[in-house]
Amino acid sequence: MAETALMPWDRPAPEKAGKPSVWSLLPEDFEAMGAPGRAAHLFNRLHRVHLWKEGAPWISKALREWVATETDASLPEILERHPSMDGSTKLVLRLSDGHRIEAVHMPRKVRSPRVTYCISSQVGCAMGCTFCATGAMGILRNLTAGEIVGQVIALMRDLGPDRGEQVTLVFMGMGEPLHNLDHVHRAIRVLGEIEGLGLSAKRITVSTSGLVSGIEKLARLRPRPLLALSLNATHDEARSATMPVNKVWNLARLRQALDAWGLQRGEKFTFEYVLLAGVNDTPEDAQRLGDWLGDLRRGHNVNLIPMNEHDHSTFHEPAEDRIQAFSDRLKAQGCFVTVRRSRGRDVRAACGQLVKEKA
Ligand code: SAH
Ligand code: SF4
Repeated sequence: MAETALMPWDRPAPEKAGKPSVWSLLPEDFEAMGAPGRAAHLFNRLHRVHLWKEGAPWISKALREWVATETDASLPEILERHPSMDGSTKLVLRLSDGHRIEAVHMPRKVRSPRVTYCISSQVGCAMGCTFCATGAMGILRNLTAGEIVGQVIALMRDLGPDRGEQVTLVFMGMGEPLHNLDHVHRAIRVLGEIEGLGLSAKRITVSTSGLVSGIEKLARLRPRPLLALSLNATHDEARSATMPVNKVWNLARLRQALDAWGLQRGEKFTFEYVLLAGVNDTPEDAQRLGDWLGDLRRGHNVNLIPMNEHDHSTFHEPAEDRIQAFSDRLKAQGCFVTVRRSRGRDVRAACGQLVKEKA
């Protein structure tokens, strides 16, 4: 019988030369690699973060030795913590080769307690959006699945979650996650393992600048995370000027990819729109945005993000009345709108900025 070809996302994540990161492995990988004892139990001990917080988790000597000899169990190192007035903390983490990435911890105490981790998928980004500090860095490299999961584990061990806090994850830190889909998806599978964090894909959002080839691939994957789209302009000329990806896949093509996604019950899109003063913040833009959304105006979310100003871009945040008028115009068209003040503005939270400053 012919062997079924493995799809890229079925393959174990390729790791740097040497031992695989223990954080990239699923229970079945432990089994295939001959780990002593029950694979699910080993996975459980390593990934249940609260066990670490209560002191080292109990792992038998044989398992400990196996992990040390057969795998790389290192985690990204937290170098800096920048707490903000709004309760969020921006962190700088160091990867094993010295590269730095950023992540944000955002607890919410009101209503049901929840914590959101905003994480990175790449060191830098190749997409070159002109308003973005990460874009100004260019791309240095992809993160491996082990580094993505390791980032989450490192954050959780450092800052929570507290017991009872619901965890959500957003790929809205550094990088274009759909440029690194194999590793991002592998990480989503590991994080979703019921013996570990059990973080369902429905609580994970992948944000993209509109890489249509990646959206189409992701649409077919299971488990499938939620999708956020960074629109940031309402006609092709303006979008291509700030987001080079639009020259390859324009707004009409992007809309087609969303129609083909095949929304399932409980799934929602998030549309992000960075408001740039005098560039994309007119009432006509708001009207065109609603028109482009069409039947997606209802049941989905539009996040307006006033430009987070930084030294690597000349764009500015619009005045308050302008932001309000834009939001009102969208709401009048039936959209569900939130204005998202970037968390941690007082610690220069524009993504990539802390790392860029160091460079
Ligand atoms: N690369 C992905 C995810 C990371 S960027 C993407 O572009 O979607 C996460 C969000 O931050 C995107 O919506 C992006 O448009 C927004 N963003 C980038 N630079 C910003 C800035 N200076 N101020 C406000 N939002 C910004
Ligand atoms: Fe990359 Fe997103 Fe920044 Fe664009 S906005 S440069 S895609 S990180």
